[in-house]
Amino acid sequence: MKVYPFRSWVEVSRQRIADNYRAVRAIVGQDAEVMPVVKADAYRHGSVEVSHVLIQNGARWLAVSNVEEGVVLRQAGISARILVMADFLPAERPALLEYDLTPAIHSLPDVAELNRLAQVTQRPLRYHLKVDTGMGRLGTRASVPEIVQTIVSSAHVTCEGLMTHFASSADYSNPQTDEQISCFQRTAEGLRACGVKPAFVHLSSTNPVAYGRAQAWLNQGATPMVRPGHAIYGYVSPARGDHAPKRVLDVRPALAWRAAILAIKDMPEGERIGYGGIFRTVRPTRIGVLAAGYADGLPHRLSNKGRVIAGGKWAPILGAVSMDLTTVDLTQSPELRVGDAVTIIGAEGECTQDAQQLARVAGTISYSVLCGISARVKRVYV
Ligand SMILES: *Cc1c(COP(=O)(O)O)cnc(C)c1O
Repeated sequence: MKVYPFRSWVEVSRQRIADNYRAVRAIVGQDAEVMPVVKADAYRHGSVEVSHVLIQNGARWLAVSNVEEGVVLRQAGISARILVMADFLPAERPALLEYDLTPAIHSLPDVAELNRLAQVTQRPLRYHLKVDTGMGRLGTRASVPEIVQTIVSSAHVTCEGLMTHFASSADYSNPQTDEQISCFQRTAEGLRACGVKPAFVHLSSTNPVAYGRAQAWLNQGATPMVRPGHAIYGYVSPARGDHAPKRVLDVRPALAWRAAILAIKDMPEGERIGYGGIFRTVRPTRIGVLAAGYADGLPHRLSNKGRVIAGGKWAPILGAVSMDLTTVDLTQSPELRVGDAVTIIGAEGECTQDAQQLARVAGTISYSVLCGISARVKRVYV
C-alpha cells in the first residue's frame, strides 16, 4: 500500500471508472446512450476528474443533480452535454442558459416559464421532461393531452428527452418497476401518437442495467439512454425477491479509503477507550488512533461495531467513533508504526471491505457511505 502524507485520503482508480463505464456500455449495446451520473461530486470520487475519464472513454452526456454541479463541470472546461436532474430554483434559470445545461423539467408550468426565458434571451433551450410513473417524488403527473398542449405551445424550447425514475428497481418481489415501465410506455406512446417524439427516452439507473431488465432501455421508439451512477463507481445494490435474476453487470469499486495511524499505545486489561467509555479492554490491547472520524465520513454507527484493515488483518473499531479520530485494535498487527495507514474501504492482504459491507454494519446504504466521505479527505487518482 502506498502511503500519502495525509491524515486520510481516497485513491480513485481511473482505470476502474473506465472499465465500469465500458461494462455498462457492453450490456446496453452501442445503440443506447450511456449518461453517467456524476452528481454529488461523482459520489465523492471527484466529478471533474471522473468526467474527464468518462469523456475520454466515449461519454457524450453527463448527469448532475443541480445547476451548481453543472457549472463546476463547465468551469473545468467540460463541453459534454449535461443534464441537471434534481430540479432548480427559479433564480437558477438564467444559469441553465448561460452554462448550456439541459434541465430535467418536472412540471408543465416550468416548460412555459423556460419558453418565455428562451424567447426573451433568444437562446434555444432543450429540456428533458420527467414523468412521475409511480416514484411519487419529482416528475409531472399531467395527462398526455396536457403535456402535448404545453409542448406544442412552447416553440422556443425543445423537448429533447422523456424520462422517469424507478423507486424499487432492485426489488423483484415488488411489481412496482413493471408498473412504472407500463405507465411510461403508455405516456410515450400517447405522446408519439400526437406527434411528440423526443429524441431520447430514459428510465434506468444502475439496477435495471445490472440485472438485465432490458425492457427498461429498449423498445421506446427513440434513442434509449441509461443513467448509471452507482455502477460507474463499482457498486450494484443486491437484488431482492425469490425470482431475482442474476446480476449481468461486472463492475468493481473504484475507490479505496485510507487513514493514517496518529498514535499507538499499549493498554492494560480493564481500561476504558474513548467517549462514554463504551469499550473496556478485556486483555492487554494495542490501540491505534486513526486520523479519521465521523467528520471525515466514517459513520458514527460503526462505534464498537465496525472494523478496518490494518497490516492486512482485521482491526476492530473499539469504542465510539469520534469527530476526528477513531480507535482500533492493532494487537494483531504489531509491526505497524505511527505514520503507517489502515484501510477503511479497499483491499489489503487477504482482507477486503467495500462501502456496501461497511454500510451494512452501520445500518445504512453504500450510497450514503460514499457520499458521506467528506471534503476533508484528500483525493488521489491512480
Ligand atoms: C442518482 C440518480 C441516478 C443514478 O442512480 P444509481 O442508482 O446511482 O445508478 C439516475 N437517475 C436519477 C434521476 C438519479 O437521481
